[in-house]
Amino acid sequence: MTQLNYYELEPEDNHFTDVVIDVTHRCNMMCKNCYIPNREIPDMDADLMIETIKKFPKRVAIRIIGAEPTMRQDLPELITRILDTGHRVTLLTNGLRLARENYVKGLKDAGLKHLYLSLNGVDNDDWYEKIDEMRCSKKKIQAMINANKYNLLRDVGCIIVNGVNEEAPARMIDMFKRHDIKNVVVRFKTIGQLGRYMEGVHQMGMDSLINIVCKQLNLKEDYVRWWQNNWIYPDSRQEKDSFLFPLDPKQRLVYKGIWIKLVNWNTDGKTTVLENSTRRGRVTENFKVAPFFEHVTNNEGGY
Ligand code: SF4
Repeated sequence: MTQLNYYELEPEDNHFTDVVIDVTHRCNMMCKNCYIPNREIPDMDADLMIETIKKFPKRVAIRIIGAEPTMRQDLPELITRILDTGHRVTLLTNGLRLARENYVKGLKDAGLKHLYLSLNGVDNDDWYEKIDEMRCSKKKIQAMINANKYNLLRDVGCIIVNGVNEEAPARMIDMFKRHDIKNVVVRFKTIGQLGRYMEGVHQMGMDSLINIVCKQLNLKEDYVRWWQNNWIYPDSRQEKDSFLFPLDPKQRLVYKGIWIKLVNWNTDGKTTVLENSTRRGRVTENFKVAPFFEHVTNNEGGY
């Protein structure tokens, strides 16, 4: 195995286009796959965080994450303050608190436009229990409906676990139809060997993921691979270890219609997940910027 390519940048020198900020290490769930299972670390200081991102030389996409960012009472204010710096904002959440419509309205009023919701069990409580240790499908679905109502729902994430929820792709698309979810990117991921993760199951890779998704959604593998080779956008949304394509072949605009993203978080002998990404950075505990996955691996258990 090669050595982990870890480095830190001053905020003024940030070159990452997507920057993760773990605003809290608190969480109201105990999922079996969690890259950030450390709960003892204090919440990130809001003023220092804003000062840091103000120094970035270019506009970036900030991903507010955590553990679970909705644990912070001041989340709406944080969103507004980040937007005031000129950066774009995505909120990544487990969605439990978004089951209350008023809560979602508060996020919308704060200026949020882009939300990523994790739905590992789709609408199946048995799957949630096996993967996320909680029978929470009702809350998750209500969160999805509320986010869609306020036009916030952009991304949905689902980890596919061998022997548990392999049927998730077909079930997810069916659920979108039933709830009139028309414009979304759904990300199916393999388990990542980061933080806390399910070790006793077969760790699938990208080929299995493509195979599962194609079979269930009646797609040809050539179609999926064609998009990888003929990507229409000049930016970095298409990465080496991921595939992005629309369900409807005529669709060309991401977030118009249903798009599928396949992401392989299986490190498979590599130093970390998606190693050497120049796209994904993370604000560190000392307010520098580091490559996201390398920082997570380098601080395993410590941040
Ligand atoms: S994966 Fe997210 S929701 Fe689940 S325990 Fe970890 S931080 Fe909480």
